[in-house]
Amino acid sequence: MKALVYEEYAPDDNYARILKIKEVPDPKPRSHEVVFKVNVAGLNHDDIWGMRGRPLQIPLPHISGTDAAGEVTAVGEDVTTVKIGDRVVSHGNLSCRVCTACTDGREYDCRTRKIWGFQTGPLWGGYCEYAHLPEVNVVKIPENVSCEEAAASSMVMVTSWHMLIGRAKIKPGQTVLIMGGASGMGTFGIQIAKLYGCDVIATASQNKLDDCLKLGADFAVDHRKEDWDKEVFTITKDLAKKKGAKPGVDVVYEHIGGSHWNKELALLKYGATIVTTGATTGYDVQTDLRHIFFKGINVLGSTQGTRSELVDGLYWLSQGKIKAIIDSIHTFENAAEAHTKMLKGNLVGKILMRPN
Ligand SMILES: [Zn+2]
Repeated sequence: MKALVYEEYAPDDNYARILKIKEVPDPKPRSHEVVFKVNVAGLNHDDIWGMRGRPLQIPLPHISGTDAAGEVTAVGEDVTTVKIGDRVVSHGNLSCRVCTACTDGREYDCRTRKIWGFQTGPLWGGYCEYAHLPEVNVVKIPENVSCEEAAASSMVMVTSWHMLIGRAKIKPGQTVLIMGGASGMGTFGIQIAKLYGCDVIATASQNKLDDCLKLGADFAVDHRKEDWDKEVFTITKDLAKKKGAKPGVDVVYEHIGGSHWNKELALLKYGATIVTTGATTGYDVQTDLRHIFFKGINVLGSTQGTRSELVDGLYWLSQGKIKAIIDSIHTFENAAEAHTKMLKGNLVGKILMRPN
């Protein structure tokens, strides 16, 4: 089969130099595995970390791709819930399923967990014609959800769902601040918070504010402005008047890091929550501890989510209550351009690729 392969790293982000379309052996399912013909796969930032060879050196030769969707073509003899012809999407969180964390319902805390297409290999990811995964790492795609929507959702939707529902436990009527509202993470953050009846303030750069509002955000603020936090606080004051509550934010949805962190802490109400899953603009943040102890702030970390949360998210996609936002669809031939576009961040939603 055809696969998008690299055999060396590109720390200079020159992906065109390393990405090659190659013939590799077709996978045969092991007894607990499913093989599916990849219709389309979604790009994630872990593709870039893999190609750079840092922060960790992933196995070479490598096939990236954590979010793949397509039709099942073969199943192992022990597979019971999926059959040939089913449409499936990957749940790229490969955990052991027997350790204390896994059996406690926290597969994301499994110490032997690997992200498929990032840490797996050699030659084991979703950018190929036929992908293979354990049965537990695929989820059937509901009838009225396309492969494109499923591939554009899997990793970011489960991560967003887990942050807001699993960790922050948002409730109707709360004020939720979604940072980076136009990114893959942000587009789901806005929609999930609205699905749960929250008032949503999203931040984005100026040219993407309308995209946030179209997704359902009640307010959108340009986070590149120096005093973006003051604008958010003014909005919460108006909301507080309506609700007869105190101004401030109940939950901050954080995946940006960098210089915004301390301002986010300052915006939180007493007893409120900040949940964080990333640090795309910097991890070494300044924290004014007074915000945390005096206001009794909950600082929650979050990584990916559970298979069951992915099933929940796919259900709401099928009900039309959440949409997958697709920026563009490419082929393996222009994979380097697609990844460069993601790196530069000039996009709204997810970038996808097809093998053909
Ligand atoms: Zn485990």
